[in-house]
Amino acid sequence: MTATTCIRNAACVIAWDAANHRHAYLMGGDVAFAGDTLTYVGPRYDGVTDTTIDGSDLMVMPGLIDLHSHPSTEPFYRGVREEHGVPAMYMSGLYERSVAFQPDATARKAGKQVAFCEMLLSGVTSVADLSSIDEGWIDLAAQSGLRVFLAPSYASARWHLDNGWALKYRWDEAAGRRGLDAALALIEQATAHPSGRLSGIVSPAQIDTCTEDLLRDSFAAAEARDVPLTVHCAQSVNEFQIMIDRHGKSPIQFARDLGILSPRTVLGHAMFIDEHSWVRWHTHTDLAALVETGTNVAHCPSPFARYGHTLEDFGRYRRAGVNLGIGTDVAPHNVIEEMRLAAILARVSARDITTTSVGALFHAATVGGADALGRSDLGRLAEGAKADIVLVDLGNTWMRPARDPLRSLVFTAADRAVHTVFVHGTKVMEDGRVLTMDHEAALAGVAEGQQRMLRDAPSRDWAGRSAEEISPLSLPLLGDRRNQA
Ligand SMILES: [Zn+2]
Repeated sequence: MTATTCIRNAACVIAWDAANHRHAYLMGGDVAFAGDTLTYVGPRYDGVTDTTIDGSDLMVMPGLIDLHSHPSTEPFYRGVREEHGVPAMYMSGLYERSVAFQPDATARKAGKQVAFCEMLLSGVTSVADLSSIDEGWIDLAAQSGLRVFLAPSYASARWHLDNGWALKYRWDEAAGRRGLDAALALIEQATAHPSGRLSGIVSPAQIDTCTEDLLRDSFAAAEARDVPLTVHCAQSVNEFQIMIDRHGKSPIQFARDLGILSPRTVLGHAMFIDEHSWVRWHTHTDLAALVETGTNVAHCPSPFARYGHTLEDFGRYRRAGVNLGIGTDVAPHNVIEEMRLAAILARVSARDITTTSVGALFHAATVGGADALGRSDLGRLAEGAKADIVLVDLGNTWMRPARDPLRSLVFTAADRAVHTVFVHGTKVMEDGRVLTMDHEAALAGVAEGQQRMLRDAPSRDWAGRSAEEISPLSLPLLGDRRNQA
């Protein structure tokens, strides 16, 4: 017999209302699970219990799903990326940064662990990890305790710059082919892992860096294996203009005509669609194309908002019928903070408070992500679903008064109130401490890796600039007489 754990008399349970396909508050209830599966969600559990958790000061909610992240690289950009952007590239710093700042393989290992720790500390239980293939990736993912969807990214071209404004490409189609083959092999290996928590996503990196054949074959491979496909698409104004130059079509129109938009497709980030105010294209068909094809969108507000960009807008996409999930695409890997920012940006963009709600954002961060990944057993507290559970401390200073616990969590407390996390029925985080990884050691590895990355920047940057020139500190050093106001 599998041991049963019961969270007894929880002050608040975010329960799944299957009939209405929505989350609902159950104020006072029990949640029980055996092995990796939820066995009861309701007012009173009467079955045999091996372990009881007192829920009287807790909110029990489903684990969050980070639908788009880059754990290998983003942790190294802390203190580097937040205010880095290139005005002559429509504010995006993506191309300059990804060329100039590249953590090495040793560093990337530590980066993954730091990212995974941040996720567990902020209530994420499932993650789409978009990374290039590094040795030991599967072992790290398994060790993390998270449910990891490994998305090994590959491309037929790499970005490069000769100056500070024009995005250029170095094509190597054979490398793209090898990348797809290696990705499919890794996905197969991950799926067979005995933990039962690992699986894969076919991930041609960007719509502008892959040949049409590679994109088409990637989609066919995803269909054949019945796994999701994810690709960056409509993520910058530069990309939009390049796709117009090449094909006379918006990135979304190009993807639709290629036949790669579908319910198994997750676009990061589908922000610069044809009617976005920053591109002002003459067509207005992209949003409808997403709806008609059932394509999912991974919405990651932080990295774009830092440049001055926003989706226009979350509520409008949702009302049109697009399934959205929430991703981070940035450090911190904090989906709760992304929910808050997504709500605020949508309202600012729409100039309308009613355009979206915390309930809609929470749906996206749980069920939206699960649906995008084709997993009806994730993102919800319901009998038969996976036991991916987050316990939120209602007694936390930042939660009180907890009249509406979800609002307290999203608008105020965020990760500070996330107390315990179970994934697949196993406790992996408790009281602000990750139980599966050495967070301190990983942070030290990231700090050292960041030093090497910054040191090597001049050899990679198109203008040979130092890291300090590309991304200056937020304040001058005392005594430095340069740039005096
Ligand atoms: Zn991304």
